[in-house]
Amino acid sequence: MANLKRKAARSCMFRLRQRVSAVFAAADVDPRKATNHAKPGMICLGGQLAGVASRLDDSDHQDLLTGVANRNHFHRHLEQMLLREAGDYVLLTKCNVSRLHDINTSFGYDAGDALLVQVGQRLRSLSGAAVGRLSGDEFAVTLVLTDPGAAKATILLIRDLLTKKFLLPGATIDVRFSIGYALGRAGDNSIGLLRKAGIALHESKRSPFLDPIEFDRNAAIRIESRVRLTSDLQHALENGEFLIHYQPEVELATGKIVGAEALLRWEHTVYGTQPPNRFIPIAEDSGLIVEIGAWVLRHVVEFAVLVNRGRATPLRFSVNVSQLQFRRNDLPQLLRAILEQTDADSSWLMLELTESLLADDSPAMIGTLQDLRSMGVGLSVDDFGTGYSSLGHLNVFPVSEFKIDRSFVSQVDQNRSKHVIVGAMIRLGEELQISVVAEGVETKDEVSVLRALGCKYAQGYFFGRPTPEAEFVALLDG
Ligand code: C2E
Ligand code: CA
Ligand code: CA
Repeated sequence: MANLKRKAARSCMFRLRQRVSAVFAAADVDPRKATNHAKPGMICLGGQLAGVASRLDDSDHQDLLTGVANRNHFHRHLEQMLLREAGDYVLLTKCNVSRLHDINTSFGYDAGDALLVQVGQRLRSLSGAAVGRLSGDEFAVTLVLTDPGAAKATILLIRDLLTKKFLLPGATIDVRFSIGYALGRAGDNSIGLLRKAGIALHESKRSPFLDPIEFDRNAAIRIESRVRLTSDLQHALENGEFLIHYQPEVELATGKIVGAEALLRWEHTVYGTQPPNRFIPIAEDSGLIVEIGAWVLRHVVEFAVLVNRGRATPLRFSVNVSQLQFRRNDLPQLLRAILEQTDADSSWLMLELTESLLADDSPAMIGTLQDLRSMGVGLSVDDFGTGYSSLGHLNVFPVSEFKIDRSFVSQVDQNRSKHVIVGAMIRLGEELQISVVAEGVETKDEVSVLRALGCKYAQGYFFGRPTPEAEFVALLDG
């Protein structure tokens, strides 16, 4: 703690020193000769104050840390460039320092600041370029091209400038940058060009290798529809447009329904029923999944109470839970409250998590999962066999079930290697005393093979498609 405070204080001092040097630089004054007759904290430069005032105007144009143009000045510069003679092209590139926050916290703010200074220097070394810092971790470079074909080569040059290692106080590191660019023509609107480069940068950030990406109209349309969908999703939650379908899970030996998986649906007012693959990724990106997921949990538990009241053998309801919900430490607390308020039994609930979540074996994650297990809530690994977790994780995490992914189950009766893999998974479950559910079962022949392999539970269109609450209840009664 004390260490952190010292670091923060050092970085504060560092920036203060830089700011003061920039003022001295603007005043063209040797800081050692400056006197301070006035109140503590005020720097008095005697008769030179008037000069400082006028030159501070220049420093108003500059980003004080890096010396490149600040945001406003860069915008003005871009406007000027676009006023050129018709026929010229203006290349605008936005570069984002990836994980600057991590660099600051790992190596200290001094290192982060030094990195930004060097990025500014390297970009300024590009001949004919105007460079600006648009935000904490974002730079922009613009230059005039007479031949639009030169854009790609220029972008590669910028990328090469940034690829070399950065020598920072206490560390020499490789830094990754996302790069987005747009090519404008003389006479174009500067705000429009900035927006286009911003869209391309956004796409670059999403690309696995942070490749430099050129603006393209389709990306703009995709982003627009993502933004619209995010706002629609927020309304959907407020307007009660979500509902849950239930797909039965059966015991293979008896064919009896022993549980159900809750699958979210969105009744969009204009586009009709939307499957989760259309909107869950957007809900995850925007963080809305935490609220939506909490709604799902409460709704399913309430339905479980309705179905299980007076039932000799209660059904177990499985709910898909996103990584973000697990990462929020309040999941056990939320569930505890829901279970208490609804008087539901925790054993009626199974949380489905992805294999990739198990790759995070941090004490916090293990703690959350153990907390849930000790409450009596089941934990199931969804789409088992498709993720990156190692089998060893099944030992570390208190898992109670795994669901063999549909890709292995589909045509298990016709494909030798699938037969071997599914058989091995079932034996693994037996040995570790973890329940195994085969997902996506569609045919009688698949059922026969699964039974012969000793699989206990299954789910799929063969037994029933996901259906609304009322139909699911009718299925139980029938
Ligand atoms: P999942 O958890 O793997 O769910 C199974 C998906 O396979 C469901 O699609 C289901 O309708 C489909 N399915 C079931 N049996 C069969 C079959 O025999 N054949 C075929 N071809 N498909 C079958 P759905 O409902 O579209 O859900 C897609 C995914 O959306 C789910 O995959 C799950 O990852 C996610 N999801 C659904 N509801 C929620 C939720 O409430 N929260 C979160 N975070 N994710 C959810
Ligand atoms: Ca699932
Ligand atoms: Ca699944």
